[in-house]
Amino acid sequence: MPIETDKVIRGGCLCGAIRYQIVGIAKSIAHCHCKLCQKASGAPFVTWATYTTNQLIFVKGKPTYFNSSAQGKRGFCSACGTALVFENSDYYNEIDVTVCSMDCPDNLWPDYHIWTVSQRRWIHLNDGLPSYIDAGLDVP
Ligand SMILES: [Zn+2]
Ligand SMILES: [Zn+2]
Repeated sequence: MPIETDKVIRGGCLCGAIRYQIVGIAKSIAHCHCKLCQKASGAPFVTWATYTTNQLIFVKGKPTYFNSSAQGKRGFCSACGTALVFENSDYYNEIDVTVCSMDCPDNLWPDYHIWTVSQRRWIHLNDGLPSYIDAGLDVP
């Protein structure tokens, strides 16, 4: 159940060099099991909240970007390595933010799992959320 409000969401990286604020509700929230997220985070999946770019502002510091694919770039803290944002040039006005870099991740509720084709075999899901094997056209 989404328990987001229109209050400002605050977050930042582990070392505190980067802080951000988000205003408004996420378009969608997804657990991504793709291999690029796994490599970039060192974790079995990453939970992303999608916003329009103008909902997010960096109030302290700026991420460093790495091009992780032809269309995608990942923003992280160059001091502590925390994964913060993802941008895809095919969706130029959207930005994904790592939910667990937020100060209160429990204030958001994920909508679905994606890229479960590369879900690690020792991750067992029973949260009842829809899951999609890849980024097919039926993904919301
Ligand atoms: Zn940092
Ligand atoms: Zn991913």
